[in-house]
Amino acid sequence: MMRLKIALAGIGKIARDQHIPAIAAAVDWDLAATVSRHATHDGVEAYVDLAAMLEARPDIGVVSLCMPPVPRFEYAKAAIQAGRHVMLEKPPGATLSECRTLESMARKAGVSVYATWHSREAAMVSAAKAWLVGKALRRLVVTWKEDVRKWHPGQTWIWKAGGLGVFDPGINALSILTEILSDPVHLTTSELFIPENCETPIAATMTFAHPHGAEVSAEFDFRKEGDQFWNIAIETDQGNLVLCEGGATLAIDGKTQSAATKKNALTGEYPRLYAKMAGLVRAGGIDMDLSPLMHVADAFLLGRRVTVEPFIE
Ligand code: NAP
Repeated sequence: MMRLKIALAGIGKIARDQHIPAIAAAVDWDLAATVSRHATHDGVEAYVDLAAMLEARPDIGVVSLCMPPVPRFEYAKAAIQAGRHVMLEKPPGATLSECRTLESMARKAGVSVYATWHSREAAMVSAAKAWLVGKALRRLVVTWKEDVRKWHPGQTWIWKAGGLGVFDPGINALSILTEILSDPVHLTTSELFIPENCETPIAATMTFAHPHGAEVSAEFDFRKEGDQFWNIAIETDQGNLVLCEGGATLAIDGKTQSAATKKNALTGEYPRLYAKMAGLVRAGGIDMDLSPLMHVADAFLLGRRVTVEPFIE
């Protein structure tokens, strides 16, 4: 099959750590250009400006956007209007309505748009989802606690409106939750702990209503030093399941499970995202599930704000 030419825009931490290696290893993709105000990647044609790339390279049919959520809409809009397929890092945008606008623009333009949720591609998420089928959920507790200084050094955008604060990693937990639960939940209470010098929360709690009365809650904290937690613990009428390390490991009734190994199975979250994007482009599909962002938006709507001590990196 013909390789697809792709341009990567926003060359920062995630582009370097995950996107560039995943594209380089994929049979489907050819990294044909980068768009970045400051960075380049050896051996790849570099543009500072997206409009210039779109004009100069009509042969590049796909644009993958890795910048933070607030500036992403203008890039996505320009790419779609230029008839290109667009892949969006998580969260797909800064607001729900701008994401809906992108989806409708893509439908009109006849191009694909993919709101990626990398944590849904973690090794044991599909096994957890399969195990839950036919079981009655009693309790689900998300514990997402990490050290922001270790994982997000210098990322000042996280603390500005639209940067999501602790929901930047927390939305990954919500992307797993919304993937594995068969019934939809909705937020009932939330507390947002906002440092007095920041615009976004450094910690948050959420509780949700579940249609059959299960207790569903989440706790996110960016101030955790030492052991780090990215766990989802689930109790059902037929046993317990714990997803750990952001979905990479799974224990059922205390027994660790290992991933089913299929011949030639794609390994890794980002290789799977790029394989899905290739499928969407070839089939002319759109995948724009906004449910994780919806829960975060609800927390900002309903959450009780608590001012906490300033965050000094
Ligand atoms: P980052 O390194 O701080 O930023 C990525 C790049 O975006 C920057 O290097 C910058 O490139 C560009 N950028 C920043 N502000 C911009 C603006 N106002 N306009 C245009 N471009 C701008 O952030 P990151 O960690 O890669 O995160 C980016 C996205 O990936 C976020 O949505 C995040 O949630 C997601 N993500 C991050 C991780 C992670 O581990 N870090 C994991 C998964 C997903 P130039 O200045 O060179 O243009």
